[in-house]
Amino acid sequence: MVYHCLKKFLLCISSASCLIFSSLSYADSQLPDIGTAGVSALSVEQEVLYGKAFMRFARASLPMIDDPVLDEYINDLGLSLVSQANNVRFPFTFFLVKDDSINAAAFLGGRVKVHSGLFLHAESESELAGVLAHEISHVTQRHIARYMEDQAKSTPLSIAGLVGSIALAMLNPTAGAAAINTTMGLTMQNSINFTRDNEYEADRIGMGLLANAGYEPSGMMTFFQKLASENRYSSKLPEMLLTHPITENRIAEARNRANSYKTRHRDSSLDFYLAKARIQAMYTNQEADSLIAYFDQNIKKSAPNTSAWLAAQYGKSLALMKAHRSVEAGELLNTLLGKKPDNLFFQDSLTDQEIDAQQYNAAISRLEARDQTMQNNPVITMNLANVYLKANRAADSIRLLDQYTRNNPESSVAWQLLAEAYQQTANQAGFHQAQAEYLALRGNIEQATDQLHMARANTADGLSQARIDARIAELEEQKKVDDSLKR
Ligand SMILES: [Zn+2]
Repeated sequence: MVYHCLKKFLLCISSASCLIFSSLSYADSQLPDIGTAGVSALSVEQEVLYGKAFMRFARASLPMIDDPVLDEYINDLGLSLVSQANNVRFPFTFFLVKDDSINAAAFLGGRVKVHSGLFLHAESESELAGVLAHEISHVTQRHIARYMEDQAKSTPLSIAGLVGSIALAMLNPTAGAAAINTTMGLTMQNSINFTRDNEYEADRIGMGLLANAGYEPSGMMTFFQKLASENRYSSKLPEMLLTHPITENRIAEARNRANSYKTRHRDSSLDFYLAKARIQAMYTNQEADSLIAYFDQNIKKSAPNTSAWLAAQYGKSLALMKAHRSVEAGELLNTLLGKKPDNLFFQDSLTDQEIDAQQYNAAISRLEARDQTMQNNPVITMNLANVYLKANRAADSIRLLDQYTRNNPESSVAWQLLAEAYQQTANQAGFHQAQAEYLALRGNIEQATDQLHMARANTADGLSQARIDARIAELEEQKKVDDSLKR
């Protein structure tokens, strides 16, 4: 049965638009260029607003990986692809979710969810970039927005209601699919061609991004093919295969298209290997001992000082930390950092190790030196703020975090650290405000508002009070958006 399904559908990458049409099959045919004309009902502002609401729902319901190093990596990679795209209407954000399954999905407002399992299964950076490029193209080609506008014409659901259903489907695939089936079962049938065309278009546009950003255009298809053949005989298919089928024809077409680009090879970056090792060591449930054995084996298998070798050493250092063998981990990380002094993975993990060993001054002087040369780097800034805090230098921490949260208001980690720092200095108003922002990011508006009222009660400064009042009013508006989607 499974084999039969696979032969028929093969696979697709995940996206909200794929997801909606998961149960459909279709005949192959020529496809028109959909282009980007004719989308009117959803303004850029609305899409951005819905994208932010989606993030709040995601933070409240998904096991988010709030990891500044991985965050920086996935966003650098994603934005290198976005920079090649046309029709970019808003900034893109890529976020990681701890989930071993292979999946990635794009939402309105340039919000792209990436499962950690995608890293574990991608063998090259071009494969990972291929999946992201396809998802980015669903957004830039406005497939989801267009779908919603289309549906809004023929269902009693409002645009907000549709946005909410699709958000639900992406955050909780089983529940969401059911909700969509009952509300839109009939109208889905009208969109068969539309969806197939979307998929072809996302492949075609995505491959252009991939090639122009310097990755191997074949990365997209090699990843899908591998996924399909690995699961050919398995009884439990990954979600991505179940929900996002494509025909053999689609794979063939993408292969032909990849062949039409000049063949090129691109080595995966060191950071790609390090990201994989970090996810395996820190964001899977593998035990420390088995991780050490795994990375030891990889060290033996790889030639010294290659990216694979460095990543295996790095993975081992993280596994040693997990096994509470902090001293050995520190030695290893210092050696690695000696080879690559600017590497953020090494900088970050050595900081963790030094905090563990209470070597705060060593960490501070190293990070301060980096901060001079790599100004405003998020990873260095967050690490430095964290160590200041541990070293009871809350005022220095606040100085960094205050600036940082201004530029990165969606950083949960930064708000948490800032709250801790204000608590250390017994600044009640600051503490409650930082707590409020952290809660608001998770869509917990009522508690956030309570915190702001407490902040207001703890400040005598008129200007600060006015600012807090304005923020309370903003959060009320935010709640209206969230409620309209939940309806
Ligand atoms: Zn797709």
